[in-house]
Amino acid sequence: MSDTLKLVCETCGQANRIPAGRLADGPKCGSCGDPLVTGKVAELDIATHDKATRGDELPLVVDYWAPWCGPCRMMAPELAKAAGALKGRARFAKINTEDFPAVSQRLGIRGIPLLVLWKSGHEIARLPGARPAAEIEGFVRSHL
Ligand code: ZN
Repeated sequence: MSDTLKLVCETCGQANRIPAGRLADGPKCGSCGDPLVTGKVAELDIATHDKATRGDELPLVVDYWAPWCGPCRMMAPELAKAAGALKGRARFAKINTEDFPAVSQRLGIRGIPLLVLWKSGHEIARLPGARPAAEIEGFVRSHL
């Protein structure tokens, strides 16, 4: 395991390199000053999504969702719980596939909600369908 981790700022897209041991110390983006590790679910646009999924060295869980999708909205609080439980181990984000349909086409997404676990530019695993927090957490932990 390397001593530093690359994390893309989920606000401005700046790539940051931080010591792996400092994840719990509230590291901030060197460019915009926003916290890099929040335990919350960040809302991404396609540019930030692409940078983070290609560059992040900490596991990144992305929820592909849309506002018209009832199960997606039902899962949102469950995803938030899992994000809090896994703070410092994985980061969580979501992207609205209605606003950014190109991302669904590129990833071959046919049904939402869909969680994809990314790490160091690779797609590690997918978890389709609305899931309770415990199941989301178990899915992520099984790949840490
Ligand atoms: Zn930033």
